[in-house]
Amino acid sequence: MIYKSNVKELLNTDKRGQIVKIDGWVRTFRNNQFISLNDGSTINNIQVVIDFANYSDELLKRINTGTAISVEGELIESLGKGQKYEIKADKIEIHGDCDPETYPLQPKKHSLEFLREISHLRFRTNTYSAIFRVRNSLSFAIHKFFFDQGFVYLHTPIITGSDAEGAGEMFRVTTLDLDNIPKNESGAIDFKSDFFEKPTNLTVSGQLEAELGAMALSKVYTFGPTFRAENSNTTRHLAEFWMIEPEIAFADIKDDMDLAEELLKYVVKFALENNAEDLDFLEQRLIEEEKQKPQDQRSDLPLKEKLRFIIENDFERLTYTEAIDILMNSAPNKKKKFKYLIEKWGADLQSEHERYLVEKHFNKPVILTDYPKDIKAFYMKVNDDGKTVRAMDILFPGIGEIVGGSQREERLDVLTDRMKEMNIPTEEMDWYLDLRRFGTAPHAGFGLGFERLVQFVTGMGNIRDVIPFPRYPGNARF
Ligand code: ATP
Ligand code: MN
Repeated sequence: MIYKSNVKELLNTDKRGQIVKIDGWVRTFRNNQFISLNDGSTINNIQVVIDFANYSDELLKRINTGTAISVEGELIESLGKGQKYEIKADKIEIHGDCDPETYPLQPKKHSLEFLREISHLRFRTNTYSAIFRVRNSLSFAIHKFFFDQGFVYLHTPIITGSDAEGAGEMFRVTTLDLDNIPKNESGAIDFKSDFFEKPTNLTVSGQLEAELGAMALSKVYTFGPTFRAENSNTTRHLAEFWMIEPEIAFADIKDDMDLAEELLKYVVKFALENNAEDLDFLEQRLIEEEKQKPQDQRSDLPLKEKLRFIIENDFERLTYTEAIDILMNSAPNKKKKFKYLIEKWGADLQSEHERYLVEKHFNKPVILTDYPKDIKAFYMKVNDDGKTVRAMDILFPGIGEIVGGSQREERLDVLTDRMKEMNIPTEEMDWYLDLRRFGTAPHAGFGLGFERLVQFVTGMGNIRDVIPFPRYPGNARF
């Protein structure tokens, strides 16, 4: 009996002596004898040994980097170092050829920029296959964490009729003929003839709808794509990214912080336990990459130690006001090294400030709370001081903001006042206000940017490298 398997299973379980069948893509072919075969199940390749006397020259010539093949043969103990088992091939079939003259991936180091240009093929490299296996684990771990705690996974809409969240610039969704836009008497666009009979956009956040769910199901979360038409070409922003947004009823900001910290530690631990080899590879990659950097810009901990550090240490919790104090008295502020100097309470924190707090001052993840209400969203609960809101942002080393959340304003009068103050039309948001009219309750939630999490765990510097097909200004290929 031929045992059909994959590389991961063959390398990790004892199937010695079995006749096995395996499919994959050739990574390298040496001396007309040794094929390194990979099928994406693991970072490791399995070695296939062939006796070239048994195969035609014509077939041997077709075994190139990238060729898809099927192998049958006995799994034997390997004499070569670096692997435990190898396959002694009896039969090789070619699924698909790969012309070495034109195939862009060669068995050598390619730059991440180059690989981004060929995102349709980059999964076949060690780096990207490792990243996407880690991404998969993190995604599964998130669902598992919430499921085990009795959360309901709620699918919130992607097309939205409200732009109240104000989290960022939105993408318009329309079926109007752009070459012939219908106008009304006053010359404005006539949205009555558009598909939804009103202006609609791609969502920037599922929070408001998640709140509706939490006010009946108590504990919900969303995990879906969100869209922001922000023209910021940074290493931490995408135009299309995935966000995890839990919303919990009968909870305050402390419960919210506890939940976020517990979730982050859980998923990082899950990846360490389930993707050890991928993370070893990514750690090594990072060490090589950092050798190019000046000493003072290298990270002090290897990747896996950095991840363990997150799991084992409490995040530092402090208020915005305390953070402003630290920043105002910091060396880079006094020596005018910050691009945006912190001059007074009320200033919005830029990523340089967040990174100073996390990477220089505390040297660990930081949760900042109680921001000035003027720099935060309308739905955040106003503190008794009347000046600050119960917001909480989690800042991570190398990443900056990874989570943004708050306790929500559950008092109808305070919420309507805030909305008026911020020019948010209350009539259109009647459904949201209904929550505060009928059985309102304290509740809280946050948004965790999934790609920023994947970036942190994989150690990748650019967010465009942790999503299969990144969307950013000027790029919607593939
Ligand atoms: P930033 O200040 O970094 O732009 P934000 O304040 O706009 O973040 P929120 O609106 O609070 O972020 O969104 C919640 C989370 O979503 C953020 O903490 C971050 O992890 C993630 N996030 C926000 N914008 C983006 C983006 N453009 N691409 C990827 N992730 C994002
Ligand atoms: Mn933003």
